[in-house]
Amino acid sequence: MESLHRASLQLRLLPLSLSPAPSRTLVLRTLLEPAARRRRLGADPPPKSGLIFPPRRRYSNSSPSIARAGWLLGLAGDKKKSGGPPDIVKAGDPVLHEPAREVDPADVGSERIQKIIDDMVAAMRKAPGVGLAAPQIGIPLRIIVLEDTKEYIGYAPKEETKAQDRRPFDLLVILNPKLKKKSDRTALFFEGCLSVDGYRGLVERYLDVEVTGLGRDGKPIKVDASGWQARILQHECNHLDGTLYVDKMVPRTFRIVENLDLPLADGCPRLGVRGS
Ligand SMILES: [Zn+2]
Repeated sequence: MESLHRASLQLRLLPLSLSPAPSRTLVLRTLLEPAARRRRLGADPPPKSGLIFPPRRRYSNSSPSIARAGWLLGLAGDKKKSGGPPDIVKAGDPVLHEPAREVDPADVGSERIQKIIDDMVAAMRKAPGVGLAAPQIGIPLRIIVLEDTKEYIGYAPKEETKAQDRRPFDLLVILNPKLKKKSDRTALFFEGCLSVDGYRGLVERYLDVEVTGLGRDGKPIKVDASGWQARILQHECNHLDGTLYVDKMVPRTFRIVENLDLPLADGCPRLGVRGS
């Protein structure tokens, strides 16, 4: 799930070789970012080529079925750029619109699966985002990773993160996740996705969920989540069923991120907890 950020002014003004570590130079781009800053970003967009949003190489010379066959043959490393995490697959790629398959529990400890997990975490942090599903790096397996940090949250206005019930949590890796709602409470907020970069849409999500599955050590885990973490879990689990947030968003709320603050159309539901 797209969190948050784009490049800081500093990153955008400096050549890559002079930039400090990305984690220190990236500024959170969020729904909650002040309009003035977003306008600034809009007026002076960050470089998109090779720096922050490198062009995707996967599938460029082959059909999805051939590329997938390569993955099955253990050639997943081919799509990885040298020296960095894999590129994030963008909407339209079939791998994002089809159900992913379960990981064989006997394979969880294998080098291949552990490498996929490492690549996912690296890709999520590089983006940066607060969640990622394996299909987003072109791997049709049921694996999700997510984390939210004080630093990320600190870039958003407090009143917004409070309304979203957004709190930091440590890295979570879940294989074969099964999600179920724990209450009927829902909330409507704008949501983004690293595979639909630069856009937002209003999505209704459950506020309380439970996710069970396997950890990266192969042991069963159970996560009880609420608020924004519950939203991230629902967003990532949707990816595993081939569903993007745009498939679930409230009609007529889709917009570019720079237009986030513009009013909703007449008749659209209001942001926030449903019924509050
Ligand atoms: Zn997503």
